[in-house]
Amino acid sequence: MLNQNLITYNKSEHRLPSGEISPATKKIIDKLVDHGFEAYLVGGAVRDLLLGLHPKDFDIATDATPEDIKRIFKGKCRIIGRRFRLAHIYMGNSIYEVATFRGSDPGDRVVKQGQIIRDNVFGTVDQDAIRRDFSCNALYYDMHEETILDFAAGVHDLKKGELKLIGNPNKRFIEDPVRMLRAVRFHAKLGLALTDSMRQDIINNRHHLHKVPTARLFDEAVKMFHCGNMEIAYYALSELQLFNILLPVAAKIANQQEQWHDFLIQAFRNTDHRLKNGLSVTPVFLTACVMWLEFIPIYHTLLDKGTNSHDALHEATTLVMTNQRDYLMIPKAIQNGIRQMWTLQLRFKKMSGKGVYSTLHHPRFRAAYDFLLLRNLSNSELSQQAEFWTNIQNMSPEGIKSLIFGKKVKRQKINYEL
Ligand code: ATP
Ligand code: MG
Repeated sequence: MLNQNLITYNKSEHRLPSGEISPATKKIIDKLVDHGFEAYLVGGAVRDLLLGLHPKDFDIATDATPEDIKRIFKGKCRIIGRRFRLAHIYMGNSIYEVATFRGSDPGDRVVKQGQIIRDNVFGTVDQDAIRRDFSCNALYYDMHEETILDFAAGVHDLKKGELKLIGNPNKRFIEDPVRMLRAVRFHAKLGLALTDSMRQDIINNRHHLHKVPTARLFDEAVKMFHCGNMEIAYYALSELQLFNILLPVAAKIANQQEQWHDFLIQAFRNTDHRLKNGLSVTPVFLTACVMWLEFIPIYHTLLDKGTNSHDALHEATTLVMTNQRDYLMIPKAIQNGIRQMWTLQLRFKKMSGKGVYSTLHHPRFRAAYDFLLLRNLSNSELSQQAEFWTNIQNMSPEGIKSLIFGKKVKRQKINYEL
């Protein structure tokens, strides 16, 4: 390999904490090398380790083809993907992604109007490096030599705290418009600055996101929601006019009404806080929060027309999900979860009788309760409900019984507005 842009950092120069690399990753790399192939730790793991963070996953790059990998790892390996074929290796409870170096020759690469639809042209490590998105994602760690191979000045950019796209921005953003969303995610997650020219390039190319399959956009949106700094990502997405591409109605409402802008910020802070504290998160929650902005006016219009609350809730939910389909494809399972969360917002209004038990034991109670608390921050009328559903969780069965069946409970006419 001869590449004049290559900078090699040895152990004393890079100080990558190699002890943090998972034993399974080491095993996979060792095995590939033992079979005579090149294999490196690459991408987010090298970047995150250099930044002192815990990598989310360990990606491996090699000159072995997916078929070679399958032959070496036999039953533990599955070849996945059509657009971008790669090997998944199963070790314990984890899956490790092993990608074959992408090359530069035309071959099994399909490009439509500049967008890469399929890329299965294999090549060498230096060719692979420049096909990656950002300089800090094109670092290769050689476990045996303990060196970092840096083909695109990624270490320099990381030190400077800047996110740099590799190659010509217009070409690279058209090839794969999702890179624009990835830029925002890495900016938010890693605190890397987006240069003024990158911001302008994103604004200029943002319309290409419409060409990306909406199911892939949803996956990217969820990665963004759970990047740990969604509040910052939201500001960047708004500034770069990307939020309105993914969620046009929510973006418009949040822009026009401060109350809903604040609601979103609180929702994002809530998830950021949970992630910082190691608590679990579900894509249902933030998806429900952003879609709520669109749901509320439709729900109220239906109530005003005389539709009963139950039907109005289901009709409005279906309408919101259908409208959103052209922008982000929300999977059915997530849609169902959102519907349950919203139905529980109606059920929370009933604070007496035996229905309280089924609400309390509903599988979506936790997320729905968090959602109620979030709504309560901007709607003081909900404080009685918030208090009731908070207290009841810590009560004894006898206490609950006397609370919900007690003499003091007066039947009140429920107002079904949300
Ligand atoms: P994280 O796993 O923390 O989200 P990552 O950078 O590892 O971040 P992955 O989606 O796991 O992201 O991808 C692994 C690597 O593959 C990236 O670091 C990058 O080098 C390359 N890559 C991923 N997606 C693209 C893309 N759309 N265009 C070019 N290269 C990409
Ligand atoms: Mg990764």
